[in-house]
Amino acid sequence: MPGRKLSPADLAAFEEQLRLMLGVVRGDISRLEAESASHANADRQGDDGDGYSLELSFELMQRDEATAGRMLDALERLADGTFGRCQACDQWIKKDRLRAIPYAEYCIECQRQAEAG
Ligand SMILES: [Zn+2]
Repeated sequence: MPGRKLSPADLAAFEEQLRLMLGVVRGDISRLEAESASHANADRQGDDGDGYSLELSFELMQRDEATAGRMLDALERLADGTFGRCQACDQWIKKDRLRAIPYAEYCIECQRQAEAG
């Protein structure tokens, strides 16, 4: 089951999330700064009815150049309008997956196939 097309508000929120995560991974900003920024953002968007809040997966993040590269690639996809599409099957990646991993390149089905094969 593919996800649904992302709205401009979704894209803006993912862009902000990616920039915050990238800043933390690179050590440019501290985790606490990013968390307070994300909470301020969640408050500002509190009435969009989508239950959207920025849940940054700091526990999963390390200062890791490979991850930083994937985040930069995701920001490029945001710029060229392909963000949120699976790089293998071109279906929309589910929003829940993108919230957990906004730099995900593949939908969950393709990711599973890649891991299995
Ligand atoms: Zn796919």
